[in-house]
Amino acid sequence: MRWGLIGASNIAANHMIGAIRAAGGEIRSVLSASADRAASYAAQHGIPHGYADLDAMLASDDLDAVYISTTNEKHLAQAMAAIAAGKHVLCEKPLAMTVADAITMVRAAEAAGLVFATNHHLRNAGSHIAIREAVQAGRIGKVLSARVFHAVYLPPVLHGWRLDNPAAGGGVIPDIVVHDADTVRFHLGEDPAEVVAIKAASGLGQGVEDSCMSVWTLPSGVMVQTHESFTHAYATTGFELHGTEGSIVARNVMTQQPVGQITLRTEAGEAALPFADHNLYVRALNLFHAAIRGEGRPAADGVDGVKSLAVAAAVAEAAETGRRVAVNYGG
Ligand code: NDP
Repeated sequence: MRWGLIGASNIAANHMIGAIRAAGGEIRSVLSASADRAASYAAQHGIPHGYADLDAMLASDDLDAVYISTTNEKHLAQAMAAIAAGKHVLCEKPLAMTVADAITMVRAAEAAGLVFATNHHLRNAGSHIAIREAVQAGRIGKVLSARVFHAVYLPPVLHGWRLDNPAAGGGVIPDIVVHDADTVRFHLGEDPAEVVAIKAASGLGQGVEDSCMSVWTLPSGVMVQTHESFTHAYATTGFELHGTEGSIVARNVMTQQPVGQITLRTEAGEAALPFADHNLYVRALNLFHAAIRGEGRPAADGVDGVKSLAVAAAVAEAAETGRRVAVNYGG
């Protein structure tokens, strides 16, 4: 599989270049807005070609797929260009700035017969796969509620557009609520219906929120409570599901690493739930490559990316207006 990277980003450097290669992919080219940066990033990562022009990149190198990890306002135009050029697309979350734009991207890929995936890494984690299996096996009975603890400290190297540029998709709601929405959907198999939310700038955000708390209702009656932040250095992340027959309490599992601890608590007492420790992004890439070969589906497809964005958009609206907001999945 021959790949082009759209965006000379940190996520590509820190996770995705290695993951693409570990999954057997070959990275042919990288695109940056700056020709100098494209060249230096290409040289640093052993990528043969650096481009500053997307059309030139798409016309060259005979790429099979592109990975889009630019800032969020660029995803739409870049995905549409890649799809028009017949490339499969793995796009970063949030897919776009609006749900309508995300639907446009996903429909275009579908019409062109191309694989389109959203890089929601958490559903690839051994921890979350083990939690989902436990829920599906009925080990906590009927699920009543979920709590998501996703308040972290944004690493200083990422203190840029996320903290001060709403036009680029900055703010903790587009950045982290999408992951929490996808994770809840992954575990519970249903789509949040209504949300209420409060947001704040608690030390880092300038013109965008850096913290948010929200409560969601699900069609089955399950209630979900979430906390996302860029300013919490010591909170550690977590995910809890509470059911009629037991609770699952997972710590340090809302992360890019294959780490954490899961405890299953039932009438019989507490037990550790074991889980696999494979690399999250490599698993996503393996599934994406298989989907291109016509075998199965990506871990998170385009519709998953649309839905996670729809929940984040509802949370943003609820936090802005103080009202209870119905999630609009755009039909
Ligand atoms: P970065 O800020 O690292 O990269 C975004 C853009 O900023 C790049 O495309 C690049 O532009 C520019 N840039 C980055 N570093 C530099 C630099 N040193 N000098 C000049 N320009 C620079 O963002 P992230 O990698 O954190 O995020 C990119 C996308 O990936 C976002 O959509 C984000 O939401 C998503 N993401 C997803 C994660 C996941 O686990 N699924 C985790 C982290 C991010 P250019 O390409 O023009 O050079």
